[in-house]
Amino acid sequence: MRATKAIIHLDNLKKNIETVRGHIGPEPLICMPVKADGYGHGGVSIAETAIRSGAAFLAVATVQEGAELRKAGISAPILLFSIPLPEELDEMIEARLIPFIADRECAEALAAEAAKAGVLQPVHIKIDTGMGRVGCPPEEAADLARFIASLKSLQYEGTATHLAIADSAAPEGIAATRKQLDRFNTAVESIKKAGLDPGIVHAANSGAVLLHPEASFNMVRPGIMLYGYPPAGELSARLPLEPVMELVTRIVFIKKVKKGEAVSYGGTWIAPEDRVIGTLPIGYGDGLPRSLSGNFQVLIQGTLYPLVGRICMDQCMVDLGPATEVNRWDRVTVFGGHEGALNAGDIATKVNTIPYEITCDINKRVPRVYTGSVLHIP
Ligand SMILES: *Cc1c(COP(=O)(O)O)cnc(C)c1O
Repeated sequence: MRATKAIIHLDNLKKNIETVRGHIGPEPLICMPVKADGYGHGGVSIAETAIRSGAAFLAVATVQEGAELRKAGISAPILLFSIPLPEELDEMIEARLIPFIADRECAEALAAEAAKAGVLQPVHIKIDTGMGRVGCPPEEAADLARFIASLKSLQYEGTATHLAIADSAAPEGIAATRKQLDRFNTAVESIKKAGLDPGIVHAANSGAVLLHPEASFNMVRPGIMLYGYPPAGELSARLPLEPVMELVTRIVFIKKVKKGEAVSYGGTWIAPEDRVIGTLPIGYGDGLPRSLSGNFQVLIQGTLYPLVGRICMDQCMVDLGPATEVNRWDRVTVFGGHEGALNAGDIATKVNTIPYEITCDINKRVPRVYTGSVLHIP
């Protein structure tokens, strides 16, 4: 196997799920989002571990992602967060995915397809309370619920919304989320007043789990925190979370560079004195952001060493100092996993993004290696 790999610590996922369970109390169900291949960690293994660790639902973004989980033998209920195309409905039904429905057109098309397949198709109503992405207006929720309940091949199973600013602890963020939750509560009440059971009511992403306990309802859908990161850096102290992904590589080449010599494309880094430089077989072609060039450190034998020069597609260089104890073939932690190593949150801060994007971007060229006692449960 290649030197560069993502070690996926499934025990940490289990711990994070237990931490969230302890925080939300025994009642709400946990839905684990495994979209985008489990935020880059590997959808199937994450899904299996999540279910074994107490998650009741999984969630995907595309029909294909859901179908892959079914092919791997996963039988848990799977929510579909995004809108399927009309021509994907048969595949969606076949994969037993539970879609969010936000309008009559989709409800009708799905009902027809479900009737054709001879199944009772569960659906959740999605209400747009302020995210501005997908959902019916709150004041139309009761009508949509009535319509869905009238369609014989659909089963109205749940009612959901999505929060746009739940990860903000600033007063404006808290107020905006409360406003969304007020609208959601009003819509859910209107559904009840129409004589219908809203089923599983859910709204909370990671931010809401951390900051808005009143948003737990019957189910929570925390993603990033179960992968070991708070949704915003400021929230890191609120719950102890363990990064699930550890990105490692090895030193494949070591050389001496004389004072004044340049390293990597563009010659942007020039040795200020004689230095030992190591080469690592990882680059932006693996998903390590090129914009980290000159602004990143990796952990080798317990010490952080700076990357120097531009990050190439497949390789990058590390400054091991004027003399070094580090040896060729030594293991290098790029992020996560070890005390002292940077994590995906630190990287996100450096390149002005969020940890989600860092783990999602570690791509297919990087093999995933799964570890943890949870693997051995039959
Ligand atoms: C991705 C997603 C989540 C999880 O969000 P996190 O910020 O990772 O906790 C929850 N609900 C919906 C609808 C999503 O798309």
